[in-house]
Amino acid sequence: MRVNYSYLQEQFADSEAILHDIKGLLHTAQFTLGPPVQEFEESFARLCASRFAVGVGTGTDALFLALKAIGVGPGHEVISAPNSFIATTGAIVATGARPVFVDVGEDFCIDPARIERAIRKRTKALLPVHYSGCPAPMGPIMKIARAHKLPVIEDACQAISGAIDGKVTGSFGVAAGFSLHPLKNLNVWGDGGAVVTSDPKIHGRLKLLRNHGLQNRDQVEIFGYNSRLDTLQAIVANHLIKDAEKITNARIRNAARIDEGIRDLSGIVLPPRPHNVRQVYHNYMFQTRDRDRLLAWLLEHGVEAKIHYPIPLHLQKAARHLGYKKGDFPVAERQAKRIITLPVHQHLTDAQIDYMVDTIRKFYTR
Ligand SMILES: *Cc1c(COP(=O)(O)O)cnc(C)c1O
Repeated sequence: MRVNYSYLQEQFADSEAILHDIKGLLHTAQFTLGPPVQEFEESFARLCASRFAVGVGTGTDALFLALKAIGVGPGHEVISAPNSFIATTGAIVATGARPVFVDVGEDFCIDPARIERAIRKRTKALLPVHYSGCPAPMGPIMKIARAHKLPVIEDACQAISGAIDGKVTGSFGVAAGFSLHPLKNLNVWGDGGAVVTSDPKIHGRLKLLRNHGLQNRDQVEIFGYNSRLDTLQAIVANHLIKDAEKITNARIRNAARIDEGIRDLSGIVLPPRPHNVRQVYHNYMFQTRDRDRLLAWLLEHGVEAKIHYPIPLHLQKAARHLGYKKGDFPVAERQAKRIITLPVHQHLTDAQIDYMVDTIRKFYTR
């Protein structure tokens, strides 16, 4: 049996309705900031329990523009986690600010107990990541942010519809960045992203920043960028957003079935699963000392497991100028050696999940 990581061909096997609307776009030819973008922004804001959403070119831009919108720039520092996808740190660097890393906890998210030590005069914002679809501990993070009067931007690229005590990811900080990349839980046919905020001033700045700073056709308010969500992608997103809850629930259900199948194995460590937290499983990850051998075993048996990611950000060549070294973030470094990611997507069948579980069990009980 094969268990693939990607599900895009299945997901878009029947896309007549989307293609029909795209044909409609050809008639109106409103390719940039056409009505579907606004329609998407309204429904996405609602999904994220925020007043506003602004459609942008990518998830990376969503973070970059959110940081720009709150005034982050050269001379500033932004605190984030060293185990994320490179785009989180890339967005900070793109503003001219310096990323400052804080180690993570067993939930793969920034460890609030270590944040305060990293705050300095130059600290301008906190950028926690809801990594793997697990909401970062926003209670303690927001408490620290309030005490130090620091704005929080959430990297919610992996966490559409996550929640803590019913409060959804993206609604904690002053703004949050989301990605619509094909492999994210709410995905389009290429690149796309969105920033959500409930602050009218930030909303206004974001609308300027993504569109050259243009107040209208002739007047430029500030220097900005060209990072608009394509109308075409907004059309796809408007179809997909109707399924967002179904997709999220399918992933949660699949993850619970995997949990159930492997949690008693002494060779593996599952992340915490607190009852008040809604994890949305962009990735299903756990830790094992036998990671490399388990990965090879799974691949050999047709299960397309992956590693997110084997090299932490502070040890990447690109980050050399930041001056970090091996040993600076022991938890993230240990996890980089032990984490493994299993397919958890909404198109998995129970038979595939059970096969994956059996294959893992065989590895440990052989
Ligand atoms: C995917 C992702 C991004 C960037 O999103 P893109 O749309 O690919 O630019 C940023 N942060 C995290 C945690 C991500 O997973």
